[in-house]
Amino acid sequence: MAASHSADAGFVRFEAVEKTYDGINLVVKSLNLSIGRGEFLTMLGPSGSGKTTTLMMLAGFESATSGEIYLDGERINNIPPHKRGLGMVFQNYALFPHMSIAENIAFPLQVRHLGKAEIAERVRKALDMVQMSGLDARKPAQLSGGQQQRIALARALVFEPKLLLMDEPLGALDKQLREHMQYEIKHLHERLGITIVYVTHDQSEALTMSDRIAVFNDGIIQQLAAPADLYEKPDNSFVAQFIGENNRIAGRVVSITNGKARIDAKGGTFDALAVKCTAGQSTSVSIRPERVSIDPVQADIVFDARIEEVIYLGDHIRIRVSVLGSDEFVVKTPNQNNQRKFNSGDTLRIGWAVEDGRALDA
Ligand code: ADP
Ligand code: MG
Repeated sequence: MAASHSADAGFVRFEAVEKTYDGINLVVKSLNLSIGRGEFLTMLGPSGSGKTTTLMMLAGFESATSGEIYLDGERINNIPPHKRGLGMVFQNYALFPHMSIAENIAFPLQVRHLGKAEIAERVRKALDMVQMSGLDARKPAQLSGGQQQRIALARALVFEPKLLLMDEPLGALDKQLREHMQYEIKHLHERLGITIVYVTHDQSEALTMSDRIAVFNDGIIQQLAAPADLYEKPDNSFVAQFIGENNRIAGRVVSITNGKARIDAKGGTFDALAVKCTAGQSTSVSIRPERVSIDPVQADIVFDARIEEVIYLGDHIRIRVSVLGSDEFVVKTPNQNNQRKFNSGDTLRIGWAVEDGRALDA
């Protein structure tokens, strides 16, 4: 059966896909990406990095300049959007204003010529799924932004698409509602088991919802990994900077032994994991602020830092220090009772483990 082969190869596959709009600049460059059936895959990256273009090629609204796109084992490059069987939710994919909520949700089913009774039943279920039962007679303008977005979601799911595409669907909502909807979509995905390809520039949104995240920059996937791996084990400086808060120490790689790099930085020498660096070349060592301990008893690496700024954040304290040629080095420390006072200008002894420093591209 063709389906078993395609499941092994990936439910969605991009093979060497490239896209140019003007015939000169590639906005998507030799993209290879395989998405599993039932997976929640997020494309995350800054504005202009090629996320929407990639999604539009999958949806069929843009054509690939070169390369192949497969869905469930079938090459879909030349299949028009409405024949790809996809559900879609976009930030400004507006509901039809003159139709009621029920009519909006029924629309994809009417286009597919389903019977009246079946349409009514499916609309009821879809409303139930997004917890909007009882509002079917209202017009979109009578709903809040979050409610409208839920209806858009119900409309995308009502015909049971094999793949759901979402492009910044929560971008217009305020923070609280956005976070609430993130959990709703995540739970809906867990319940329905459908495949979702989601686009966002918001890293915490991506970390909250995704099975895997493809980090885009400049039309290239910089890293494809599960949320925890992206945060704990960034492959390069772009990912380390883009996901979470990060300290960078500029230095030169003196030598590499057994996967450890000896780093020469301004004001000190220390070891770090040799992740992406070359002996004799410059490097940027990435260290997460919460991995740095203050007054360390046991730490591989210890330096005296000068306190530049102290910020109280309730559950933790952020201390910005000068160390190893950086005056932007941040230490996050939990706020505990009777904690000592930190004052600007004081010397603070800080330390971390060799494994918590990652020597990356400069
Ligand atoms: P993202 O969704 O990550 O913000 P896009 O895929 O929208 O990125 O854009 C990638 C690049 O392609 C950008 O430089 C953008 O200006 C350009 N671009 C996007 N859509 C078009 C278009 N229809 N015509 C010409 N250039 C486009
Ligand atoms: Mg976009």
